Amino acid sequence: MNIKTKYDINQKLYILNELSYRKTCPMCKGATNIVLENELIDCPLCHGSGWVWSKDNKWLVNVYYIHEICADVDDSGELITYEVFRDREDQIENPSSKIPNGFNNIHEDCDDVFSTREKAEKECNKRNAIREK
Ligand SMILES: [Zn+2]
Repeated sequence: MNIKTKYDINQKLYILNELSYRKTCPMCKGATNIVLENELIDCPLCHGSGWVWSKDNKWLVNVYYIHEICADVDDSGELITYEVFRDREDQIENPSSKIPNGFNNIHEDCDDVFSTREKAEKECNKRNAIREK
């Protein structure tokens, strides 16, 4: 069986990531615990850490390359997914602990994936502009 894929192995992909940041837990206000029925318990929202991850709809373009292509075929058709890893130069240029360096299952038709930097940056600027309104 010959399945046509949109992208090839080792091809660079430009993927939009939404940046996350730590913010003080809104439930315990950073105290790590709350009082419930006169008992001091670990805050159920932040699990006792005092902070939560938050997203601010702030997008960034990151460069990845395709390590592996997986094809699943079911009744609804082919499902092509890509296992991608961060480009080494991009990791140095855009260091962030919350940008994944490698992950599975980037779907071929995913809205966050582009074949050129120009297209990716255009969409990235559009998303960030919506946020600023
Ligand atoms: Zn908390």
